[in-house]
Amino acid sequence: DNFRILGVSEQTLEALRAKGFEAPSPIQELTIPKLISGECDLVGQAQTGTGKTAAFGIPIIELGEPGLRKPQALVLAPTRELSIQIAEELNSLKGKNELRIAPFYGGQAIEIQLQRLRDGVDVVIGTPGRVLDLMRRGKLDFSALRFAVLDEADEMLDMGFIEEIEAILSETTPDKRMLMFSATMPPEILKIAGQFMRDYEVIRT
Ligand code: AMP
Repeated sequence: DNFRILGVSEQTLEALRAKGFEAPSPIQELTIPKLISGECDLVGQAQTGTGKTAAFGIPIIELGEPGLRKPQALVLAPTRELSIQIAEELNSLKGKNELRIAPFYGGQAIEIQLQRLRDGVDVVIGTPGRVLDLMRRGKLDFSALRFAVLDEADEMLDMGFIEEIEAILSETTPDKRMLMFSATMPPEILKIAGQFMRDYEVIRT
């Protein structure tokens, strides 16, 4: 099995079969083993359609421990639509895993999201504005994070989310893996990497 040699568990292999994924895409081949083993932080240059969501989603699911009562992974994305889409993809990849994965974005009544957080969320996916809002209300605690992902980082910078991103990341434990995906590599992207990542590798596909 092509995913098996990347270190993917039996449970996730089953979910991948159910989704009809037969072979890993190039970005998945490069990132999944490194993220599962926690080798280094990654900056990936990848467009939509390359399978980048599963590239970070599979390691998040593999390393997640359901029921810790604190989020173990955070994915920041530029839009509500993308946040919802990522949450759906991760929920379909988790198979029988009991991780709770949910999107948090502006425009949805915050009470719904607060209730979800009270029930417990393992993987937070959201837009920087709403995530920061929830953090400042004391409802999100990122002290146990294992993974932070910035998806479509260049888009988030273009939309002016840099201050929110910096404020959020500065409240996360340094003891986590970080991954950033971006279609383009302007200097600002590498600046964030330099600021928040330890040793990192740049991957282009
Ligand atoms: P993404 O680039 O993450 O937006 O993924 C693009 C589309 O490809 C999504 O519909 C994924 O479900 C699908 N996809 C991702 N990885 C694979 C794979 N290894 N095999 C088949 N389809 C995939």
